[in-house]
Amino acid sequence: MIILKQGGGEIISGASMKEVPNILWLEEIRKEDIASVGGKGASLGEMASIGLPVPPAFVVTAQAFRRFLVETGLDQKIYKVSDNLDVENNAALEKAADTIKALVMKAKMPATIKDDIKASYKKMSQKDLIVAVRSSATAEDLPDASFAGQQETYLNIKGEIALLSAVQNCWASLYGARAIYYRAKQGFEESTVNIAVVIQQLVHSEKAGVMFTSHPISGEPTTIIEGSWGLGEAVVSGSVSPDNYVFDQRTEFITEKTIANKNVEIVPDGSHGTKLVEVDAARQDAQVLSEAEVAKLAMYGKIAENHYGIPQDVEWGIVAGTIYILQSRPITTIGKKEATSMSGQSKDAKILLKGQGAAPGTATGKVVIIRDAKDTGAVKEGDILVTRMTNPDMVPAMKKVAAIVTDEGGMTCHAAIVSRELGTPAVVGTKTGTQQLKNGQLVTVDGEMGLVYEGAVGGAAKAVGAAPGVVGSAPMITATSVKVNVSIPEAAARAAATGADGVGLLRIEHLILGLNKTPGWYISNHKEEEFVKELYDGIRIVLDAFPGKTVWVRTLDAPTDEFRNMAGGENEPMEHNPMLGWRGIRRDLQSPDQFRLQVEAFKRLWKAGYDNLGVMFPMVSHPDQFIKAKQMMAGWGVDVENATLGIMIEIPSSAIMIEDFLQAGIKFASFGTNDLIQYTLAIDRNNENVADMYNPQHPAVLSLIHSSIQKCREYGVECSICGQAGSDPKMAVWLVEHGITSISANIDAIAKIREAVARTEKRIILEAARNRDAE
Ligand code: PEP
Ligand code: MG
Repeated sequence: MIILKQGGGEIISGASMKEVPNILWLEEIRKEDIASVGGKGASLGEMASIGLPVPPAFVVTAQAFRRFLVETGLDQKIYKVSDNLDVENNAALEKAADTIKALVMKAKMPATIKDDIKASYKKMSQKDLIVAVRSSATAEDLPDASFAGQQETYLNIKGEIALLSAVQNCWASLYGARAIYYRAKQGFEESTVNIAVVIQQLVHSEKAGVMFTSHPISGEPTTIIEGSWGLGEAVVSGSVSPDNYVFDQRTEFITEKTIANKNVEIVPDGSHGTKLVEVDAARQDAQVLSEAEVAKLAMYGKIAENHYGIPQDVEWGIVAGTIYILQSRPITTIGKKEATSMSGQSKDAKILLKGQGAAPGTATGKVVIIRDAKDTGAVKEGDILVTRMTNPDMVPAMKKVAAIVTDEGGMTCHAAIVSRELGTPAVVGTKTGTQQLKNGQLVTVDGEMGLVYEGAVGGAAKAVGAAPGVVGSAPMITATSVKVNVSIPEAAARAAATGADGVGLLRIEHLILGLNKTPGWYISNHKEEEFVKELYDGIRIVLDAFPGKTVWVRTLDAPTDEFRNMAGGENEPMEHNPMLGWRGIRRDLQSPDQFRLQVEAFKRLWKAGYDNLGVMFPMVSHPDQFIKAKQMMAGWGVDVENATLGIMIEIPSSAIMIEDFLQAGIKFASFGTNDLIQYTLAIDRNNENVADMYNPQHPAVLSLIHSSIQKCREYGVECSICGQAGSDPKMAVWLVEHGITSISANIDAIAKIREAVARTEKRIILEAARNRDAE
């Protein structure tokens, strides 16, 4: 894996060179393998793994390239040429690039690599197959596109000799003058830069084009397909007006069809390259796709969308009736534009209620008012759930509805957290929703703007599965890890589809509270095993969705009032202010049985091989609590010194005493700003009367965060954030500037956070380079 380290711009290569073979077939590759197969290879592998008809391919891995460099002694030679190279000196740069490229081209490819490539090529087809040979840079998905486009692609390659030479050409292209320049400017160590090469059957499409799996602006489940004759580049480059087909995923019918005049097409030029030619008269106005082909393409699109959890922009081609999927990337326009169009269309609509837009998206439906969790049986699919405040036993109903409106709460209340994970639009803190709205009334909810309109407005639809603004799965590499928060296991797949670097907060209380029985009930009814199993199964779903990535599971943190409606809830103490009450680690330390059962579930997961599980303690106010928790866990047989145990910084005292926590051996710390803000400013986070004073950027809050980050950095301990503030791009910029190690955001915020992080990192590097140059 390539890691760009904070501050120094240092690059290290963490991939083990020993384990990865010279060749990986598409079927063996997943998106996590980017360090071995590069961005292109990883994305093709991921598509093949879900059964999409991707043309056969194999990848000459980055490790093969490195073996080539080491075994030929080139690594040393390249180092000699590039070391101390002044990249600002054009002549010197060009000369160095030419020298290195010539060295790479002249070097004899080790027999093992050569044999592996030849054998794989033969395995693709007994007769010489025509292939495309494409460089797949392992740092290709760095946000700076100019870096990515540096390496070569060779089309129309036929025969072993041409293939081996094309591979070596791709390797050499890593050392173009511009590529060396960019790497130097971005602080990459030349000796650790890698490249993979994808060798794929070339598809000479007879017809081809692009497809948006959902409407690219409104996000509605209508697939839009554009197609024309010849290779897809004609459509992608805009050199032809393609046919346009709109396929409704709900009815599975084509609802619109526009047949264009297609006067040109791009076709292969003999055995090399491509050319633009005129389409013969008979095909110019003919329909490109049959109805069956449109339906099949739309089905493939749906598969990709479901897998990634967000609408996709897909390139496809058809040869002799066979469909090939050539590329799939997330559509990034959904969400922002939808919000604009919604407010545009709703200019004349009557606003019934205003609150906080807690989960983006818009939906129209009939109001169902729920005054007590026991009445959720009345909720039907597609309704608008209106309630004072949701609680965990309402989650099954929340999954059914088109939108959620609450009287109380802010951006971090239960309704807001769960709605965002479900991808269901929500407006919270309307104050009077349950009084003003009537059962059965038709309303439209705008979860972005925080508005509820009378009647149906602007063709709003429930954002099924794909919440607007949800993230791209394309792995953009940032030095600051961008992780995701998860509260309900059902959201694990959507969360993983964001490509997040792990889970920075798994709230297990949602899992337990959804069972409708308090932990105390399980204990006093001798159903401990059942409780442990529920925890084990729920957490495992999330761990399985994030293989090889850390998942920080937080121990129980439910205020007593949230337990009250459940079986066993009658034994919960009545607290004047549950937010300041018996919750988090304070309760676990005083309720050893409840703590032990959670630890038992963790122990079983560790034993089952889930090394990626870390445990995070909430509401910690003194290092003694951490030490005590560790001792208790050790007493129950946990190897506490090797387990990943960390704390949330949610109470000012833990920020003030962070150094004592670091000395007590925490392995990570994560800001729970939802609470940190309320405890620093004395603002109840769920009280809409003071919501406007709830200020994440209050200097006192920022000061606590800043000093804690500094200390964690001194001790080399990961410092993260999992509170709602981490989902705000402005805050993310500030956090990166102040040295945070990772940010864990909501599913719907990952894309914008990743972008904000990447931009900020780039800016920091650029400014450092400029300052150096100026010196
Ligand atoms: C927080 O306090 O910021 C946090 C993430 O925890 P919760 O919202 O569950 O209290
Ligand atoms: Mg908290």
